[in-house]
Amino acid sequence: MDMLGLRTMFEKFCENNDFQLNPDKEHTAAVLKGVLKNEEKTGLKFCPCQVQTGDFSKDMGLLCPCNFKAQKTWQKKGECWCGLFVKRQHQK
Ligand code: SF4
Repeated sequence: MDMLGLRTMFEKFCENNDFQLNPDKEHTAAVLKGVLKNEEKTGLKFCPCQVQTGDFSKDMGLLCPCNFKAQKTWQKKGECWCGLFVKRQHQK
């Protein structure tokens, strides 16, 4: 998958949800690049800011998008560990 494909897929994932891709395009691009690099290395879209444990069932929780709304980081900061997804900002 390429960067555009991944971004499009995640934009779809955000549709009709209370979260969106981080509007900071540079940051988002850097995280997406990390996901793609992991996919190249492992065949799976692992989170670029979490270390895989080697335990397959635990590591399945680190596939992007993870269950980020259950994370403390989400509850505190309104974004996923990597800041790829953020709470949807109100439209003007
Ligand atoms: S923390 Fe964000 S970037 Fe990492 S896997 Fe979860 S959703 Fe993807």
